[in-house]
Amino acid sequence: MLDKKKFYINGEWVSPKSKETIDIINPATEDACAKISLGNKEDINEAVQSAKIAFKTWAFSTKEERLAPLEKLYELYKKRWADIAEAITLEMGAPKDFATKLQAGTGAAHIKTFIKYLKEFNFEKSLGEHAKNQRIIYEPKGVCALITPWNWPMNQTCLKVMPAIASGCTMVLKPSEVAPLSAMILAELIHEAKFPKGVFNLVNGDGASTGDALTSHSDIDMISFTGSTRAGALISQNAAKDFKRVSLELGGKGANIIFKDADPKAIERGALRCFRNSGQSCNAPTRMLVEKSMYAQAVERVKQFAMEMKVGDPNKEGDHIGPVVSEIQYKKIQSLIQKGIDEGAKLVAGGTGKPNGIEKGYFVKPTAFADVNNNMEIARTEIFGPVLSIIPFENEEEAIEIANDTDYGLTNYIQTQDKEKANRVARKLRSGMVDVNGAGIAVDAPFGGFKHSGIGREAGKEGLLEFLEVKSVGGWN
Ligand code: NAD
Repeated sequence: MLDKKKFYINGEWVSPKSKETIDIINPATEDACAKISLGNKEDINEAVQSAKIAFKTWAFSTKEERLAPLEKLYELYKKRWADIAEAITLEMGAPKDFATKLQAGTGAAHIKTFIKYLKEFNFEKSLGEHAKNQRIIYEPKGVCALITPWNWPMNQTCLKVMPAIASGCTMVLKPSEVAPLSAMILAELIHEAKFPKGVFNLVNGDGASTGDALTSHSDIDMISFTGSTRAGALISQNAAKDFKRVSLELGGKGANIIFKDADPKAIERGALRCFRNSGQSCNAPTRMLVEKSMYAQAVERVKQFAMEMKVGDPNKEGDHIGPVVSEIQYKKIQSLIQKGIDEGAKLVAGGTGKPNGIEKGYFVKPTAFADVNNNMEIARTEIFGPVLSIIPFENEEEAIEIANDTDYGLTNYIQTQDKEKANRVARKLRSGMVDVNGAGIAVDAPFGGFKHSGIGREAGKEGLLEFLEVKSVGGWN
C-alpha cells in the first residue's frame, strides 16, 4: 500500500496538520492501494499563504523564466510517462493502452501546447494605430484554486496547472480524492523542474471540507474547477462573496445526430465514443439520435457492437474497457439502468449486474437502450457510465430540437456526408463544441460548454486567457 500522506507546499513535501486520512481504492480489485491525507483549514491556509508570497515575484517573471522550467517539465514528463499511465490505471481503472496513449498522452500534449502558446503570446500591446499611447497589458489573475475530478485526471490537471504557470499565476491544486496519484507524480516533476518555491502547491482532500476551505479562502483570486454541475454551483456561491474569478468545466449529455447519409462507420464510432473510458467522459455522445429511415438498422448495429465490446482487467493490454471508478459510481449507474427499464425504454444490450464471469471490481456491462424518449431520466441525467440511449428523429429540424433540449451544452456530434447540412446543423447546436464525422476537437481548440456545462474555456490560447486579467493604460510612453 502506497503511503501518499504528504502535501507539496512551498517547494517541499510536508506532513499535514490534519490527521485525517482515506484509502484510495483500486476499482478493478476493490482493494485499498494507497493512503492520502484530507487537508484541513490550516493545511489550506499554509498552501495559500505560500502561493500568495510566491505570486509577488512570479507575477513579474519573464517569459523566459517561465519557459525554462516548463520545457524541463515536458522532458521529465516524457521520462515518467509509463509511471503516470500506471498510476491512472491504478486510481481510476483506465486500461493500460488507453491510459498510456490517451490519458497520459493528453497531459503531455497540453504541456507542449501551452509552451507554444506562451512563446507566441503577446502580454503587452498597443490598442492600435489609432491610439498608440493606449497600452493593453495582460496580467496574471493571482492565486488560483485548481480543483480536478477523477475521470481524465492528468488531462484536467495539466489543462489548469500549465496555463496558470504560463500566465504568471501561483496555485493550490486539490486533485480528486478518488484519484490523486497521477497528480502527485506531476507534483514530483514540478519539484524536479525547479519552479520557484510556492508557485505550485498541492493539498489533497475531499470536496465538502478541503475543497470548501480552499474555494472560500479570502486570499484566493481565481477558482478553476472541473467536476459535477452540483459542486460547480456550490463553488460559485463561495466565489460570489468576494468576486473571485471562476472558470467551470461541468457535465454534459451530448447528442450524436446520425443522418441517413452518414458514413458507414458512424454508428459503431458513436457507440465506441460513448463506451470509451467506461462512459466516464463529460463530452461522451450518450444520446444517439438516428433518422427514422435507418433506425431499425442502427439499433441492431449498436446491439451487436455493445455485445461484442470487451470489459476486463485494466492492467492488460488491449482495446477493452475497464471498471468504473468507484462503488458510488457503480451503484449510481446500476440504478439509472434500472430506471431506464422502469421508464419503458427498450434494453437492447447489457443491463444491470456485472459482466459475465466478473465477480470483483466495479465493472459495468456496456448497455444500450432503444426507443428512448428525450424526457426520460436516462436521456436527461449524466449517467457517467457505459450507457447509450438511442432516440429516433424524423427530420433535421427535429434532430436539432432534441439535441438542444437539455440543460447541458458541452459537445454535440453530427454524422452526414452532406457538407452544407453538417455546417448548417453545427451552427444551430447550443454547445461549446461540435464534432463532425469523427474529426475530433483539436488539443488546443477552446474546450468548454454552454448552459449548465460551464463557464469559460480551457486549452490553447483561450485557456491561457482564462488566467489573465486585462489592464488598459492610457498615456503609455
Ligand atoms: P465532483 O464534482 O464530485 O468532484 C470534482 C472535484 O470537486 C473533486 O476534486 C472534489 O473533491 C471537488 N469538490 C466536490 N464538491 C466540492 C465542493 N463543495 N467544494 C469544492 N470542491 C468540491 O465530480 P466528480 O464526480 O469527481 O467528476 C465527475 C463530474 O465531472 C461529471 O459530472 C463530469 O461531467 C464532470 N466533468 C466535466 C468536465 C468538463 O471539462 N466539462 C471534464 C471532466 C469531468
